[in-house]
Amino acid sequence: MIISFDDTDSRSLGMCTTYLGALLMDELKAYGKPVGLPLLIRLNPTIPFKTRGNAAVAIKIETSEREKVKKHVIQRIEELAQMEDENTNPGVVFLENNNEEVKNVLAAFFKRTVQHVITIRQAKEIIEKCELDARGYKNGRGLIGALAGCGAMLEEKWDHTYEYLSYRQKETWGTQRFVDENSVIRADDATYPNTWDNRDIANNLVVCIPHSPDPVLYGIRGKTPEYVSHAASMIEGEVTERYAIYKTNQGTDMHLIPAESISNLQDMESYIIQGFVASTPRTIEGGHTLFLFRDKEGEEMECAAFEPTKNFRELIRKLIPGDHITLHGSVKNKTLNIEKIDVIELAEKCRKVNPLCPECKKRMKSTGKGQGYRCRRCKTQADTAIRSKVEREIKTGMYEVPPCARRHLSMPLVRKRGKDTHPSR
Ligand code: ATP
Repeated sequence: MIISFDDTDSRSLGMCTTYLGALLMDELKAYGKPVGLPLLIRLNPTIPFKTRGNAAVAIKIETSEREKVKKHVIQRIEELAQMEDENTNPGVVFLENNNEEVKNVLAAFFKRTVQHVITIRQAKEIIEKCELDARGYKNGRGLIGALAGCGAMLEEKWDHTYEYLSYRQKETWGTQRFVDENSVIRADDATYPNTWDNRDIANNLVVCIPHSPDPVLYGIRGKTPEYVSHAASMIEGEVTERYAIYKTNQGTDMHLIPAESISNLQDMESYIIQGFVASTPRTIEGGHTLFLFRDKEGEEMECAAFEPTKNFRELIRKLIPGDHITLHGSVKNKTLNIEKIDVIELAEKCRKVNPLCPECKKRMKSTGKGQGYRCRRCKTQADTAIRSKVEREIKTGMYEVPPCARRHLSMPLVRKRGKDTHPSR
């Protein structure tokens, strides 16, 4: 039996759908045997209804007491979900009829939910068509993520990573967290690049400890359950209640859709698109760096490295018109929010310099605006300045936003092999 749920938490009131998953993984042992690791799936990152990272959770259990399992899950959701928050609309789906057709429909739905925008009606139609037992609370939006979670559990052939999530004791929720940051640094040094995004060295931040009032103490992301467990075993801090290791689509770029031209792009979707820098990057009030991007058909759109991307903006400011690039990022309000950039080929950068005197080989002097150049000694003259090539301050290759600005779904460059990459750390 697959149990998948979503949308139980609230930004102001706390909770976290992954905590409910960890709790159920332990509690459901009373009725059967959990199979494999629970799933933490991240869905379309541009969805405005999300609390934080647009996550859903799925669990698989071998049981002969299905009704008891359902009753227990429903009771826990009703007890723990932050129903008072108007944006919390929980959904749970129980999947028991695992035939090939259901598998195909739900696996495709999973991918669509990561890349596109889905309506509550579409989710409900699939639930009806596949004859699934589901429960949607309030407007039922959580059914979208819950259904996608079932699809992820059925279709196991997707790129994945792991996250070790450690949960605080209930009485401490909402209070200041205590984790020895030096122990995080030691754990990171011992396990990077097999774990990542524990800290952001360039911006001097520990990034695996959240700041919201939810039950998570820290989360360690990495390549295998062993690596994330090893890193977690090195972290010292307050006494925790429990932990869970999730298999996840975090760090996989599953949200990105390859696009040929700007005319194919839509708001609230994420893309990989190749083209050229079409304007000199400019930084506006608030510290956001923007430039125009041109596709091969000559169409242009605005691209942005927003203020939270910190030192990544310095790289973007070094681009010049004509640079051949591939961008990875989400489109919102007709602007592409850059997550990664592949600098394929750099345009030639030149500056104007005074011409050399053909006699003495010294630089001529300007004789006034628009009046050419003259060598004072030899009296030679020239009409125009000459262009001299300037060394570019960036190299080709792939660059990414720093860990403090990373989207859950974005593949960190430490995971990309065989490419000329510049991982941010
Ligand atoms: P939580 O920890 O509660 O899961 P969250 O940050 O993951 O917090 P949610 O509170 O789950 O965000 O809110 C996201 C809502 O958007 C959910 O109801 C989910 O079903 C819905 N949703 C997810 N993906 C899509 C999509 N592609 N299109 C439309 N709605 C979506």
